[in-house]
Amino acid sequence: MEAKIAFYGGAYGVTGSSFLLSIRDTKILIDCGLFQGLEFENNYLPYPCKLQDVDYLVLTHAHIDHIGRLPCLVKEGFRGKVIATKPTFQIAKIMLLDSAKVMREHYKTLYKKSLRKGLEPPLPPLYDELDVVECFRYFQIELPYSTPLVLKGEIKITLRDAGHILGSAYIEIEDLKNSKKFLFSGDLGNKNKPIVRDFDLPPQDSNFVFIETTYGDRNHRSFEESKLEFLQCIRKTFEKGGNLLIPTFALERAQEILYILREFHEQQLLPPCFVFLDSPLAIKATKIYKDNPSFYDEETLELFQRIDPFHLPNLYLTEDKEDSKAINLIKSSAIIIAGNGTLTGGRILHHLKNNIWREECSLVFVGYQPKGTLGRKIVDGAERIQLFGEEVPVKAQIYTINGFSSHAGQRELLEWLSPIKDPERIFLIHGEPEKMKIFKDILSTRFCPEKIYLPHLLEEIPLY
Ligand SMILES: [Zn+2]
Repeated sequence: MEAKIAFYGGAYGVTGSSFLLSIRDTKILIDCGLFQGLEFENNYLPYPCKLQDVDYLVLTHAHIDHIGRLPCLVKEGFRGKVIATKPTFQIAKIMLLDSAKVMREHYKTLYKKSLRKGLEPPLPPLYDELDVVECFRYFQIELPYSTPLVLKGEIKITLRDAGHILGSAYIEIEDLKNSKKFLFSGDLGNKNKPIVRDFDLPPQDSNFVFIETTYGDRNHRSFEESKLEFLQCIRKTFEKGGNLLIPTFALERAQEILYILREFHEQQLLPPCFVFLDSPLAIKATKIYKDNPSFYDEETLELFQRIDPFHLPNLYLTEDKEDSKAINLIKSSAIIIAGNGTLTGGRILHHLKNNIWREECSLVFVGYQPKGTLGRKIVDGAERIQLFGEEVPVKAQIYTINGFSSHAGQRELLEWLSPIKDPERIFLIHGEPEKMKIFKDILSTRFCPEKIYLPHLLEEIPLY
């Protein structure tokens, strides 16, 4: 046997993406994501392979569900080279440092609670900031898009634009000895969005395809429709005299929201308001965005040469805690963008406490809410939630705008697959099983159903 694949995360589930491709004696790990939500405890299991033997780790992009276990890997013995685009490395650094901080704070809270209630102490954080800094030394091969890199003279790796977040890539790996091509989608982007380019299309002769299926079951509304919906949310909320909260991840969505609000402002559509970017991480990420204009789409690049695409008057970047607390004094006409995106922690929880019980306020979800998160509970219609040990009624208007998603919908996933002629196997990954099954049925009209496979966690499959 010359090649096999093992699924260490993102298999029959959404989080923890990680796949080990072995081609003869070369071992290439694709992503090493953190398990999140209900799957979090999986992070404490030892990595299922001998990490000392892994030669390369290729990162598709810097979301934590694709990079978050990297410090664990290094602690467990990984000494290989990490390959990624320049923005992925830059963003990965701030994301991992933030992840260490979030875990430490979360641990402190749980620990105090366990003492108070006489419970078992919580599991310790997976890593600290020192472990994170240690793993940066393995960030060794910065690879631009569409620039082939040959490993050991027999394996070619090329990163292509996945159109998901700044620097995101899908990965083509070619076994030159056997002329076999592997394709790992990473997370594919939605189309016609601002800032990043649309995804590239893969080669038609790909043999083994690993495709994400986060939204394999549905199509998103168009971006333009979603913008209108967003504008209406803002207007309605301000007419009622409330604030509008946007829980968002620090990456891409936060920058997109700023970009859209600036557009609204320039088109004189935005009512008078304050906009707060209340997330130190999003503020840092926005700086990285400004540092990498060569990764923008044409329109954003053209704008960038004249203005700052992520700035508008009355935008306040509240890095300090005190500034963040001062937002509590504002009872109406504020747009508060804060992390984290699924309400499992971060400053957004304080804003929820101050606003979610007020029916004149709104909570606007612009991203995917995994099972087991507070965000999902609210989206599913919870009437009361627990915040800082207190029960709080949910009275604010809840909106979900899915057209801002940085994930491809079903239509885009199919479009990305469209050039591929006759693959040997298609593996559906990074999705909830029920959604994968819907996507499988649709794919079965184009490809032989026996070739489409839903791998399970820890499954290992020989390829040739
Ligand atoms: Zn992602």
